[in-house]
Amino acid sequence: MMSLQVVTPHIKCIFDCPFCISKGHIHNNKFINNYLLNYNLWENNLINVIKNNNDLKYIVITGTNEPMQSKDYVNDVIDIIRKVNSNIQIEIQTHYYKEDDIYNKLDVVAYSVSNVNLLDKIKPIGNIQRYVIIMTDSFNGYDLDSILKLIPRSVKQITFKKLIDSNGVNEEMDKYILNHSIDNNTLKKLKEDIDKYNGNLSIRLDLDCMNSINRYKIFREDGNLYDNWEEVSND
Ligand code: SF4
Repeated sequence: MMSLQVVTPHIKCIFDCPFCISKGHIHNNKFINNYLLNYNLWENNLINVIKNNNDLKYIVITGTNEPMQSKDYVNDVIDIIRKVNSNIQIEIQTHYYKEDDIYNKLDVVAYSVSNVNLLDKIKPIGNIQRYVIIMTDSFNGYDLDSILKLIPRSVKQITFKKLIDSNGVNEEMDKYILNHSIDNNTLKKLKEDIDKYNGNLSIRLDLDCMNSINRYKIFREDGNLYDNWEEVSND
């Protein structure tokens, strides 16, 4: 396992994005919060996952709500990883644009941005700064060059992500995605631009971010490891 996603305990998200894939799971994000109820079990399981996977190089802290709503959890995850294997790179994926000390403890701060008007409004901080561009229809008509002009120069990595629907689990969300995804012409042009790009930034297109197979595993607040986002515990 090269990469692991560590998920913060689920609570109601402060942002409520209409395209949020967390609203599209059959399990409704109901996992036991052993971080709260049985900290030793949760901590030992995380330590064992890190120790038992020598090939683990990258951990992403994410959430089924904004992960910065659980700063203690984020701090504990960072401290545990640093203590067990200081070679692992740690990233957080966040919509929380305010400056916070946590960001300086991480290797990569990945800011999710779903509206083109926000690209030049964020003041990113952190060692390596990444923008995760959620391709809503606000990006229609923009090519790579026009997007790059809006992004602060300190940002070194950019990932373009396609909106993923819930395949009927959440009709409201699926309707939003159908009506507010980037249009096909803009997407096609962006893909061509990204393929041709040979500048200094790391730029990639992720058309299937929720597909974990052969990419990453998921460690949840119950202290269990999962192969995919739909899997539930047998306990
Ligand atoms: S901030 Fe993230 S978790 Fe919260 S609603 Fe938006 S996409 Fe979902």
